[in-house]
Amino acid sequence: MAGIYIHIPFCKKKCTYCDFYTVVAPDFIPSLVNSIEKELRFRKDYLKNEAINTIYFGGGTPSILSPEQFQQIFSTIFELFHVNDDAEITFEANPDDLTPEYLSSVRALPFNRISIGIQSFDDEDLKRINRRHTGNEAIAAVRNAQLAGFDNLSIDLIYGLPFQTLEAWEKQLDIALSLDVQHISSYGLTYEEGTALWKQREKGKVTNVDDEIMNAMYLLLLERVQQKDFEAYEVSNFALAGRRSRHNTSYWKQEPYLGIGPSAHSYDLVSRQWNVSSIKNYIKAIETGTSFYEREELTLFDRYNDFVMVSLRTSDGLDKEIMKAEFGLELYEYCLQNVQSFIENGKVSDSDGKLRLTPDGIMISNIILIELMKV
Ligand code: SF4
Repeated sequence: MAGIYIHIPFCKKKCTYCDFYTVVAPDFIPSLVNSIEKELRFRKDYLKNEAINTIYFGGGTPSILSPEQFQQIFSTIFELFHVNDDAEITFEANPDDLTPEYLSSVRALPFNRISIGIQSFDDEDLKRINRRHTGNEAIAAVRNAQLAGFDNLSIDLIYGLPFQTLEAWEKQLDIALSLDVQHISSYGLTYEEGTALWKQREKGKVTNVDDEIMNAMYLLLLERVQQKDFEAYEVSNFALAGRRSRHNTSYWKQEPYLGIGPSAHSYDLVSRQWNVSSIKNYIKAIETGTSFYEREELTLFDRYNDFVMVSLRTSDGLDKEIMKAEFGLELYEYCLQNVQSFIENGKVSDSDGKLRLTPDGIMISNIILIELMKV
């Protein structure tokens, strides 16, 4: 099984916390869609005829594309690849793009899942982080998508926003859990160097929420989603039964994927490659047939580190026998030796042949992962 990821790097404006490669340049959209089509053709053999189990349009803001532009990309994908009948096909959307008219047009396309970037329902939070939408527009977007017939919806939420209290976060969770969505992704706010938010903190205009409150927010998130029958299948991802994101899961299971578009990454089990992070250079390279990516072969340690990092964060856990078979006795013993103290102090559980982070372990997951990784 394999996946296709299409990166649509356009946004109508930049959120203050975001460090993804995105630009505000709507004039480039038609040329970029043409270049994406060409890249798909150049790289049609990358996945070696594996059947496609997931297609994911991420960004940036894929919902900036018209239904016709999506169709142009779908026609190429379906012409070149074998897409399974039950493939999960997702696009990320900004709430204010999800009007009834837009949704009824995209409903006719192969999409069967939408991931809506809500982040908060609080208008003051949203203004502070420069989001395009209001809380009411976010709720309307979910309702519009449901009325249009989408029954597999994911929403993104951020906790630990500047000035956010535990009570305010609880209110966000109440609203989110009243919307009948099938999947929630929720991350603690991070201050990435170079972002507008980082600069605001440098100037003293915002401060980090205390670690203790951040931890309490995460535990509250866990408690509230589990009360509503969501499974915490990964540290930051929660799904109703049968609604795990297959796109995320295939990354964590280290299945191959083809990433198309500026700054998109690809993985073919032995190497990673990443496209140039510039729309202009990407389009020019595709047009002139010159190189548009860098590539690195993965070492045994790289593959072991990826395996530890992703599997320990999932509820399926790190399978010790798979680790031994894939990476050999030496790395297996290295991992078991270094994890022992975390098992003894209740940060990692060891049962059914699997290692898993406990809720206390999640709070210090970076420390645990550094101990287990091999450099
Ligand atoms: S909409 Fe998403 S990708 Fe665009 S700037 Fe905001 S967070 Fe970044």
